[in-house]
Amino acid sequence: MKLPNSEPGNNKKKNEKMSANKSKIESVRPSDFIRDIIDEDLRTNKYEGRVHTRFPPEPNGYLHIGHAKSICLNYGIAVQYGGLFNLRFDDTNPSKEEVEYVESIIEDIRWLGVDWDDRLFFASDYFEQLYEFAVQLIKAGKAYVDDQTADQIRETRGTLTEPGKDSPYRNRSVEENLDLFERMRSGEFEDGSRVLRAKIDMASGNLNMRDPVMYRILHAEHHRTGDKWCIYPTYDFTHGQSDSIEGITHSICTLEFEDHRPLYDWYLNELGIHHPQQIEFARLNLTYTVMSKRKLLELVKEGRVTGWDDPRMPTISGLRRRGYTPESIRIFCERIGVAKRDSTVDIALLEHCLREDLNKCAPRVMAVLRPLRVVIDNYPKDLTEELEAVNNPEDPSMGTRKVPFSRVLYIEQEDFREDPPKKFFRLAPGREVRLKHAYIIKCERVVKDEKTGEVVELHCSYDPGTKSGEAKAGRKVKGTLHWVSAAHALEAEVRLYDHLFTKANPTDETDGLDFKSYLNPNSFEKLTSCRVEPSLKGAAPGNRYQFLRLGYFCVDPDSSDKKLVFNRTVSLHDTWAKIEKAQKKG
Ligand code: ATP
Ligand code: MG
Repeated sequence: MKLPNSEPGNNKKKNEKMSANKSKIESVRPSDFIRDIIDEDLRTNKYEGRVHTRFPPEPNGYLHIGHAKSICLNYGIAVQYGGLFNLRFDDTNPSKEEVEYVESIIEDIRWLGVDWDDRLFFASDYFEQLYEFAVQLIKAGKAYVDDQTADQIRETRGTLTEPGKDSPYRNRSVEENLDLFERMRSGEFEDGSRVLRAKIDMASGNLNMRDPVMYRILHAEHHRTGDKWCIYPTYDFTHGQSDSIEGITHSICTLEFEDHRPLYDWYLNELGIHHPQQIEFARLNLTYTVMSKRKLLELVKEGRVTGWDDPRMPTISGLRRRGYTPESIRIFCERIGVAKRDSTVDIALLEHCLREDLNKCAPRVMAVLRPLRVVIDNYPKDLTEELEAVNNPEDPSMGTRKVPFSRVLYIEQEDFREDPPKKFFRLAPGREVRLKHAYIIKCERVVKDEKTGEVVELHCSYDPGTKSGEAKAGRKVKGTLHWVSAAHALEAEVRLYDHLFTKANPTDETDGLDFKSYLNPNSFEKLTSCRVEPSLKGAAPGNRYQFLRLGYFCVDPDSSDKKLVFNRTVSLHDTWAKIEKAQKKG
């Protein structure tokens, strides 16, 4: 990950210079409230100068762009402060967790360019230790076995305005609690028949402190511990202690955990173990999509999308398949920064970051999505010219390639109009345009389908001296079109995507409609008769290109030697740049 003050110096002198500059760089780097807290902790030597963060996913779904924000933040901080970063799965709920999710999460985080060295952990590795912690709390009279049902516990929990009611089992003796808890572990009791609860305060203003459940009975196979356990710790009893066991210094999490912090603090204090500092920040929300794993799972299960990696999904695997670069996602996460209040980011900003990155690295090629045949009548029948084309005007080091030109070409249907409206500077009867990297052509005649009246072919003439680099190359015409040579082009399928939802905030259900009623019926379009230039032969899945004038495209894993398949990653039309310009003006 590129951070302004994390670049390794390659010689001593440079290092010295760098440290001399360090304070300067730090003062330039936009800080945020999380980094301010860490700076202060370092100043007061709170954790002996250590900074140790982690990303703690629950393996119950695929990661999305919101998780990327958390990953980049935690990893970015570790790198910036020369600290450590752990990846830990908070796998406490065997009924919803799967190995498939563990694997996809590891793949996605790696793809983002994040490195946890050998610090890959699982909360399930701490089950024995957590059990010991629970026993410690029972012995201290701080936890008890409750025989009430889940419903009874819920009903006696009270509300925000009313205190809860003590369980009739709350004052069991330590001995009885120890005995029952051990028997819970050994499998003597049925699912749901008993739980272990912390003994805190049923009248607390914070509902999380009203004797929260620590352990539940669940005779379910765990993806890592198999059938070793039939009691599982709750997320709340696991998360903070896992951070503590790993020596995490700053437990960065999202705002919904703010109300849980007193509980996490309580557990750590009562157990007398290492106490990380929890810091909450606002979740990332993006327009025109949903970011809840539950909702995303619903879309997958109901077949509303083709899978977790459907290129319309906000998942990392979806974005990757769509053609996003890890760099663009990291830059986006840096640009949005961290805040304490929930807000929604315009998806146009994410697309803007993507375009900026692809503009630098994607080679330009020519492709025609909806082909219209063009015959150049005065061009020699058997001639093929190999024209020189620049691969990336932004980066001369990417070199040039040859593009074949011949008598029959394809251009884009929408680049021709029989009755051109004002300001339409492309091809029309009697009009001239330049063909990119090639000649100026003039439309002489239009051939139509007799029955439908549809334009099926154009007959044109070319001006021989106008080839790029030749005598009349400087002659100006208003439009420049992309094209491919009919005899040389490769057939391709191109998949076009639009926002998954038609409403900026699909989860706003104030008008009584479920988020799925806002699914965009036009979010996917498949074009099967596209033509691409021959240099794309054998293009490998994941390769990214700019199709001139059309946008950025990426080879889909469905692509094969027989049939190339491309996803449109993003069009060239940058709405964010427009928004920014308007903001500056206003
Ligand atoms: P769940 O409802 O299943 O808990 P979750 O999205 O919170 O869903 P986790 O696996 O618990 O999933 O998330 C791992 C980490 O990612 C947590 O620390 C969480 O705070 C953070 N995270 C989740 N969603 C976002 C988001 N939209 N923006 C920023 N961080 C997020
Ligand atoms: Mg969560």
